Amino acid sequence: MNIGVRREIEPGERRVAATPESVLQLVAVGLSVTVQRGAGAAAGYPDSEYATAGARLVDSLDLGRCDVLAHVRPLDAGTVARLSAGTITVGLVAPAANLEVVAALRDAGITSFALELVPRLSRAQSMDALTSQALVAGYRCVLEAAMRLPRFFPLYMTAAGTIPPARVLVLGAGVAGLQAIATAKRLGARVSAYDVRAASADEVASMGATFISLDMDTADGAGGYATELAEDRAARQRELLRPHIEASDVVITTAAIPGRPAPRLVGSDMLRGMRAGSVVIDLAAESGGNVEGSVPGHDIPILLDGDRGMITLVGMKDVPSAMPHDASRLYAKNVSNLLALMTVDGEVVPDFTDEVVGGACLTHDGIVTHQPTLEAISPSEEARETGIQR
Ligand code: NAD
Repeated sequence: MNIGVRREIEPGERRVAATPESVLQLVAVGLSVTVQRGAGAAAGYPDSEYATAGARLVDSLDLGRCDVLAHVRPLDAGTVARLSAGTITVGLVAPAANLEVVAALRDAGITSFALELVPRLSRAQSMDALTSQALVAGYRCVLEAAMRLPRFFPLYMTAAGTIPPARVLVLGAGVAGLQAIATAKRLGARVSAYDVRAASADEVASMGATFISLDMDTADGAGGYATELAEDRAARQRELLRPHIEASDVVITTAAIPGRPAPRLVGSDMLRGMRAGSVVIDLAAESGGNVEGSVPGHDIPILLDGDRGMITLVGMKDVPSAMPHDASRLYAKNVSNLLALMTVDGEVVPDFTDEVVGGACLTHDGIVTHQPTLEAISPSEEARETGIQR
């Protein structure tokens, strides 16, 4: 069976869905791989390395002849229209935000796998692209803060005086937040963190950071995720966070609720209480923002009262794509591991009774198999009996 990999078409996207390393893995399980020339160039993977790994290189990928299309960004309707019925697609889909494309995948008879839906089980960790890309994002946002902060991160004791370490506060201690903590610690900052999930206190402590306990109940939801706070609790959370934010040189926010807009953790009035030169990084800027006023892809200067100077509010955008080499290396392995799991004798034959395969499936055989997406597309439609394991 033939796996197609093309250059990503989203402007600014520099990642690629297969690397020479992942091609080797796909070829080893009996699949053939066709890569569009230049697909890996922006991520630092030249065509020659794909060829050495066993891929066939083409100037333009004939989408209608791919048995499987591996992709990074959600497909657009134009691409879906060029696929043949029965084609398998594997990549990010962001189903809640792309219902029209999901409907197109369904109507075209595509068997689509959305990497966002891979169940968060130990067995599926090697296929979990949310985790691999959040790792990149958490690391990167600390570097972005360090580059903008007009101070050192580490403690320096020099003949000319002692410089105290920067104080970094991480709000939201999931995969990205924990990676931000680890990176800030490595740079020598004094790090504290907060999250609404009960388990996060131990997770934060295990990274060597100080957990901030607020006088509030925790908010644990299904599957290890947090639940959304009602507005009165969210307002109380902001008030309790205020002194911690004002005492920080760097605030990094990573809080998210699956399928919901990002929770608002920081109001603009809270920013004005920070010290001049402080930096606030909003990793959730693209999904509504944890910080009031953040704009994806922009640095916003916030003027402080009187002559106190300003702080910088940074709205992050396309973060994993900013480190395309290693982001692609991890992402491509997530894709190839899922494909290898589904491959028998050189054929990709999904076993939908496998909870990882069934869980990641979004559309198959003309139906939307993921119940929340089905409900969002056609609220009155009942789930049909598919035999797909979830
Ligand atoms: P996420 O991206 O949905 O959210 C990021 C963090 O924001 C979470 O820790 C969440 O608790 C936090 N948050 C939400 N609302 C908040 C608020 N109002 N205030 C403060 N924090 C808030 O989550 P994620 O990082 O993808 O993963 C979260 C959980 O999933 C963790 O428990 C993690 O250990 C678990 N996980 C398990 C696996 C696995 O077993 N394979 C893989 C990845 C993650």
